[in-house]
Amino acid sequence: TTAIERHLYDVVVIGAGGAGLRAAIEARLAGKRTAIISKSLFGKAHTVMAEGGAAAAMGNANSRDNWMVHFRDTMRGGKFLNNFRMAELHAKEAPERIWELETYGALFDRTKDGKISQRNFGGHEYPRLAHVGDRTGLELIRTLQQKIVSLQQEDYAETGSYDARIRVFQETTVTELLLDGDRVAGAFGYFRESGEFVLFEAPAVVLATGGVGRSYKVTSNSWEYTGDGHALALRAGATLINMEFLQFHPTGMVWPPSVKGILVTESVRGDGGVLRNSEQKRFMFDYVPDVFRKQYAETEEEADRWYADPENNRRPPELLPRDEVARAINSEVKAGRGSPAGGVFLDISTRLPAEQIIRRLPSMHHQFKELADVDITKEPMEVGPTCHYVMGGVEVDPDSAAALGTVQGLFAAGEVSGGMHGSNRLGGNSLSDLLVFGKRAGEHASAYVDTLGKRPKPSKVDVASAVEVALAPLVRSGGENPYTLQQDLQAVMGDLVGIIRREGELTDALKRLHELRLRVANVSSEGGRRYNPGWHLAIDLRNMLVVSECTAKAALEREESRGGHTREDFPKMSPQWRLINLICSVDESGDVHLERKPVPRMRAELIELFERTELSKYLTDEELAELEAE
Ligand code: FAD
Repeated sequence: TTAIERHLYDVVVIGAGGAGLRAAIEARLAGKRTAIISKSLFGKAHTVMAEGGAAAAMGNANSRDNWMVHFRDTMRGGKFLNNFRMAELHAKEAPERIWELETYGALFDRTKDGKISQRNFGGHEYPRLAHVGDRTGLELIRTLQQKIVSLQQEDYAETGSYDARIRVFQETTVTELLLDGDRVAGAFGYFRESGEFVLFEAPAVVLATGGVGRSYKVTSNSWEYTGDGHALALRAGATLINMEFLQFHPTGMVWPPSVKGILVTESVRGDGGVLRNSEQKRFMFDYVPDVFRKQYAETEEEADRWYADPENNRRPPELLPRDEVARAINSEVKAGRGSPAGGVFLDISTRLPAEQIIRRLPSMHHQFKELADVDITKEPMEVGPTCHYVMGGVEVDPDSAAALGTVQGLFAAGEVSGGMHGSNRLGGNSLSDLLVFGKRAGEHASAYVDTLGKRPKPSKVDVASAVEVALAPLVRSGGENPYTLQQDLQAVMGDLVGIIRREGELTDALKRLHELRLRVANVSSEGGRRYNPGWHLAIDLRNMLVVSECTAKAALEREESRGGHTREDFPKMSPQWRLINLICSVDESGDVHLERKPVPRMRAELIELFERTELSKYLTDEELAELEAE
């Protein structure tokens, strides 16, 4: 038999990004014995990479901002497919979560009168992003980690052990959730360094594993983001919502090839950067869709005046929501007006003095100098779309973050959860999402544990099967190489389920994904269990595949274009489709199923926040008639 290290906890949090850490803090504050598990090193998560800031309607930069304006912007950004309750909670609670961070020791940039400074970002009506230069995520993680250390010190003073109530297991990958009937009973995984197995027995699990970008050829995501949490949830009987919606960030580096996909923060545009094609034209003026026409400048002069005088001018079209900008860049390149490396030009050098660029965008200045030998204070950057964020995710109850489906004791927060951002996330709304729903997940996971009588127990059979599945790629010989399989998967998703989608290609993608599933079932990796990245990838592939299948299936089903889902054969947004969420589940044999479910209806006082003319762009005639009648 294989040796397995065992631990007993009340709440196990999988993921040590912002959502996971905030959830863990809350669980520990509720007195629960809490484990934080992270596949990467502690402190290395996407949250650290977030540059622009965290959106919260504090009203510091413009006193007219408040939760209602933020709610409206979020719903618009998501093209009205957002779970309205999540968007409401998020807009209402984000300011409190940001202020609370300062009580943990965070220090945001300041306005002249000492308030937390707020910067402009795409889709936000007022300057709203609390930030620390362009290193906001770093400050967020640093602060949350510091809070955890301070809680551990309190526990040490009381019990003599730092780990008494909260412990971090880094470089530890969870491969399976274990159930007792329908209830969560624990999580199974391995230590990446030794390859040894570990079992966490716990009645509540919070998924905070982040995104899925590694299934795409060009992505801003790092190696950990293989959709593990999404897949763990599916296999445990939970459901995923609207997996067709992926955000392709308009500005990733396109050159040199080794760094293709790495993010160029939207702050470059927020601070005045403009997009130009090979003819030096600011092409975004040609791409303002009707639904946004009223809010965006029609001339370069007006757009330029906006930075200094936002009250009396409309914003530049470079600051349209990300899906719009990404599609526009895609079209320019396709039309032969791209840059030499196949992107477009993003220029800040002619827009701000060098000293200001270096002060406001230090990481970008450094990144381009180091990676591309480009001095952004002197020359434009070359940029193009990169797979960045998944709007779809674990379907949750908005208030408690509890996963829906058949499973109990499972919670999800942050990027791994779905619904909050609808069909497209606004920049800056993720960091605030992590804090708001991370806290809620920790709180409700703890409350759930309190309701339990007997602790659920993982079965020996399930543990043995988790061991077997994990070891299979090592035991098997002569199977396919995991790296080849990953490349093939990335090609299918990038080429056939990318920014612009078509029926024929999606059908083809599903066929190929099916073939890949059979090939992945036969993957094998050389070497042993000690630090073996090939083996780790072989295990991850299973997750990437099932999640990709959900994405491709949903993308084929949704016959409209909305946010992060563009169908060339159905180019319009359809009011009928706005009524429908696509819910993904898997059965015992691992087959993916898709189901249509009605979108919950927004409460009347929230609908009242929008003008009828705006609603008429999204709602069906029947819905509008009902509103008139009320
Ligand atoms: P993450 O921070 O992604 O953390 C996930 C954690 O889960 C990691 O610790 C990982 O190791 C762990 N994990 C994953 N799988 C497993 C497993 N199987 N077992 C154990 N652990 C596992 N958003 C903004 O709002 N503003 C920004 O300015 C911004 N900039 C960004 C810049 C970049 C380059 C990127 C990539 C994203 C940016 N985003 C931004 C998006 C935002 O950073 C992420 O969506 C957000 O940080 C996700 O946080 P999270 O807590 O959900 O997960």
